[in-house]
Amino acid sequence: MNNLTDIAYIKSILKRHGFTFSKALGQNFLINPTVCPRMAEYCGASDTCGVIEIGPGAGVLTRELSKTAHKVVAIELDKRLLPVLKETLAECDNVKIINGDALRIDFNKLIEDEFAYGDVVICANLPYYITSPVIMRILEERLPIKSLTVMVQLEAAKRICAEPGTREAGAVSVAVRYYAVPEMLFKVSAGSFVPPPKVDSEVIKLNILNNPAVAPKDEKLFFKIVRSAFAQRRKTLSNSLSSGLSLSKGEVASALEYCGIKLTARAEELSMDEFVMLADFLTD
Ligand code: SAM
Repeated sequence: MNNLTDIAYIKSILKRHGFTFSKALGQNFLINPTVCPRMAEYCGASDTCGVIEIGPGAGVLTRELSKTAHKVVAIELDKRLLPVLKETLAECDNVKIINGDALRIDFNKLIEDEFAYGDVVICANLPYYITSPVIMRILEERLPIKSLTVMVQLEAAKRICAEPGTREAGAVSVAVRYYAVPEMLFKVSAGSFVPPPKVDSEVIKLNILNNPAVAPKDEKLFFKIVRSAFAQRRKTLSNSLSSGLSLSKGEVASALEYCGIKLTARAEELSMDEFVMLADFLTD
């Protein structure tokens, strides 16, 4: 089998298929041979654990996953890569490629149709432009999966894995901790890709919880408060909530006072429990 991390080989096969990289689709292909085996190991692919991959590209991670997973289903948006994948994955008989958009595909149906037994995990080198929407979609749909092991830009990784109540935290950090326990796994330098992106990346793992980490009385209101709180990071929480929730300054002030949160606090200072307390107070 040809080596998919060999830059000369990968360039020649892409050239033969008339393929040129699309920046808009976040196409930076891995050429560092140490990364995919580590991702495959961390994600837990095994003969009782199938894998969904998002964006197989030329198939470098797909091939590694297929060595240990009983089945790999990979969703690729770019039709131009289908003949490339047909060639690079010709010897992997446990791989299925689906031409589709990870932001639209029905993951529940895919899991039901493709994985008859065992656990399912997601493992991917994500196109950077869909990082947050695709992660949030997968978490919010409460798919029957064990974990997501994904490579994302380093800054996005820090935000996704940040603990609420710390400087790096954003709405996505709170949402991630609601559904999962995040882990930063290892850094991948920009030089590990062709073409190299401008920034380094990080592989992270989100271990899905059986039940959400906290139990607000009204989940929708909880997330609306989190989104409003972080919508204007430079404003105080009090100002963001009053404009985001159409509440008077007085109403927000009494809610904050009841929850023991100072009026000058900013969203990133609030813990998960304080967000729940605030949401429950406003629900009542
Ligand atoms: N897995 C390959 C690797 O590690 O070398 C390629 C990773 S590259 C960062 C992202 C891949 O996702 C590209 O193949 C791109 O065409 C694909 N992609 C972009 N947007 C997508 C979407 N909405 N749904 C599915 N795949 C997408």
